[in-house]
Amino acid sequence: MQQLRETRRLCSYQYCGNSFQGRSDKIFCSDQCRNRARRDQLKEERWNAPMFYSKIVEILQNNHKILKALYEEKDNSIIVTNFLLRDSGFNFEFTTRVLNTSKGIYRFCFDYGWLELENGKILIVENKKMILI
Ligand SMILES: [Zn+2]
Repeated sequence: MQQLRETRRLCSYQYCGNSFQGRSDKIFCSDQCRNRARRDQLKEERWNAPMFYSKIVEILQNNHKILKALYEEKDNSIIVTNFLLRDSGFNFEFTTRVLNTSKGIYRFCFDYGWLELENGKILIVENKKMILI
């Protein structure tokens, strides 16, 4: 009868420190340590990325909300001042897409965008096909 090779080694969970005997592919001393290690790893992943992910998403959503609200006040494209946008909490640094056209550079936050005109004027536009591009 063939037996699995068992060796003695240290548990891989960083806060455990137990040594244990088990199959050579086993790296934790117990289910509890395996679960704790997994939980810590997930916590770390959430910590590393989404701190700024979620902040950027928040800025983009706020930009989108402002553009949409201004746009919906009229049926068509609308011209506002960049002061109005800034005062509304708009952040010009964050966009989801940049379109370079013969009329100028359109910057979008999802399906709403803007084009800087002369004298601090801003043209707000909607692009319903944004998702298709
Ligand atoms: Zn352990």
